Amino acid sequence: MLANALRAADLVNVLGRPGPDSAVLAETARVLRAYGESEPLGLSATDLPGLREAAAELRPVFAAAGTDAAAHALNALLAARTGPLRLTSHGGTSPWHPHVDGDDDAPWAEWFLASSCLALAVLLWDRGRAPGGVCASTACQDVFVPQGAKERRYCSRRCATRERVAAHRRGGADAVAPVSRRGSRPGP
Ligand SMILES: [Zn+2]
Repeated sequence: MLANALRAADLVNVLGRPGPDSAVLAETARVLRAYGESEPLGLSATDLPGLREAAAELRPVFAAAGTDAAAHALNALLAARTGPLRLTSHGGTSPWHPHVDGDDDAPWAEWFLASSCLALAVLLWDRGRAPGGVCASTACQDVFVPQGAKERRYCSRRCATRERVAAHRRGGADAVAPVSRRGSRPGP
């Protein structure tokens, strides 16, 4: 279920980016394959508006401030946009597992929204806290699912390092300013 939540975050990010449809579609297909979707994907440009809409609907779950807000956001989606909980084995090709989309052959957008809601709801239940977050780096704003037990502010080590370096530079400039105003910097 963690993998499905991670997939949801990756898809929300890919589908939320500006760019030509062909590039977004290619990135979406790359993410689906990376998480083991079987070929042929049958993904086409006509799926994109629905997928983008679903990504926009899922983003507030990641952006929710705290566990209660995330739960309410998920409940609203589960009530309005998904079907009842059912079990499927995809015609005997996989172990039985839960789905909340309407049908095994549901369009990609319906599957994306439903599978993401289910994964994020189970993760919230399992961890007892909001299942995801939005990267605190203003240059990034990607959504993410923390993989450890600790609360995280940034989506990745890359973003955390970049922000730490930026904060250090800001701090360094402030510390140096009064010295240079006095015009007598201490020698080496
Ligand atoms: Zn980030």
